[in-house]
Amino acid sequence: MELPFAESYKIKMVEPIYRSTREQREEWIKEANYNLFNLKSEQVYIDLLTDSGTGAMSDKQWAALMTGDESYAGSSSYYNLKNAIRNIFGFEYFLPTHQGRAAENVLFSVLVKEGNVVPGNSHFDTTKGHIEFRKAKAIDCTVDEAFDTESLHPFKGNIDLVKLESVYSSYNREQIPMVIVTLTCNTSGGQPVSMQNLRDVTALSQKYGVKVVFDSARFAENAWFIKEREDDYRNSSIKDIVAEMFSFADAMTMSSKKDGIVNIGGFMAMKTEELYKQASVFNIMYEGFNTYGGMAGRDMNALSVGLDEVTNEHYLKNRIQQVAYLGNRLIEWGIPVQKPIGGHAVFIDAKHFLSHVPKEEYIAQTLAIELYLEAGVRGVEVGTLLADRDPETKENRYPKLEMLRLAIPRRTYTNNHMDVVAVALKNIFDRREKIVRGYKIKSEAPIMRHFSVELEHV
Ligand SMILES: *Cc1c(COP(=O)(O)O)cnc(C)c1O
Repeated sequence: MELPFAESYKIKMVEPIYRSTREQREEWIKEANYNLFNLKSEQVYIDLLTDSGTGAMSDKQWAALMTGDESYAGSSSYYNLKNAIRNIFGFEYFLPTHQGRAAENVLFSVLVKEGNVVPGNSHFDTTKGHIEFRKAKAIDCTVDEAFDTESLHPFKGNIDLVKLESVYSSYNREQIPMVIVTLTCNTSGGQPVSMQNLRDVTALSQKYGVKVVFDSARFAENAWFIKEREDDYRNSSIKDIVAEMFSFADAMTMSSKKDGIVNIGGFMAMKTEELYKQASVFNIMYEGFNTYGGMAGRDMNALSVGLDEVTNEHYLKNRIQQVAYLGNRLIEWGIPVQKPIGGHAVFIDAKHFLSHVPKEEYIAQTLAIELYLEAGVRGVEVGTLLADRDPETKENRYPKLEMLRLAIPRRTYTNNHMDVVAVALKNIFDRREKIVRGYKIKSEAPIMRHFSVELEHV
């Protein structure tokens, strides 16, 4: 018999969590104006709001914190991180920042100018924000399969080379500062990009003289999928795959809160001294001096250990298996999810789940609230609330997909927790025909409304 799945860690320290009653949750979610961001974390039993900064550090990371060097300039923690980045990604130069979007802010201050276009695979929202803030345009060149939840394409994060070349040939070279490849592609459901696609994107970009930048938050999960799904890499180590992936990039930005397995932090790294020097100017202004830039020495130490652990095969196998475990339980019951299951989250197709709720009543948010009421599980809406209103017409924008995202924090929950989530969704699925009404907006902010919107039941 094949041995079953088990977590690749044992537990040395615990944080108690409590299961509330349905009556308590009904009161709390009403007080929160049916916005899950307004809940206190203690009102949540299993928190799948995000996998960002919510992972559990290892004993070795906690030990590294204690030996952090808090010198303003030239700390040993800086050099530890510099060595880790050189060993894992092959970049000679790097700058620490307080999180991923700060790295975007610094790097784009150098690269992005008004009127520019930046192609990529479904840019992450802060990435797009930092591009649009500079009056430039992000152009989505993701393969079409990414938008079909039933397509089993193994690399739904890939860039469509025809779309990319059409951007390259329709604008002047000076207007295209870079292409951004997001690993894995968060927006399309944690879907990976293949090594072949990275190779092809780089070859095409070099032909047109365009820089290649990787938005690398989940680079290790991406490497795992390359090993699993791309024939040439079955016998390669994760560290070798990562090294090859990043050999195709001129620079990277990183949110260390994901595959750095730390609670806060980020960085950018690059091949050339020239780009490093240009970025340093902005890093000193926005983040801090080059050898700490927004991070404590102890956090740089923990990150250098985290980068090594996240590229460990035992860790990654369990990580990906846990996410797949939840996804597969749902698939067995016929619950509609984005397939194949991504690296960090299970995305539930809310339009197919709650087919009676009208789109004007926020289908994915309705499902998110139902899940909270059922079991105290917090997910996040990736649908009409997140898509905001059209800036000109002020009408709601209805995206192609209405998703409930369940993001799994790293090394934090066991599969027993995944079972609770799965059964809660099954219970809702069994009574889905009775859920016919959703929510309407009481008040909302002019942009990024999903964080603060207030709702009431229709
Ligand atoms: C989280 C994330 C970012 C932004 O990083 P923060 O650390 O949240 O600032 C950028 N890109 C991707 C793909 C991300 O997942």
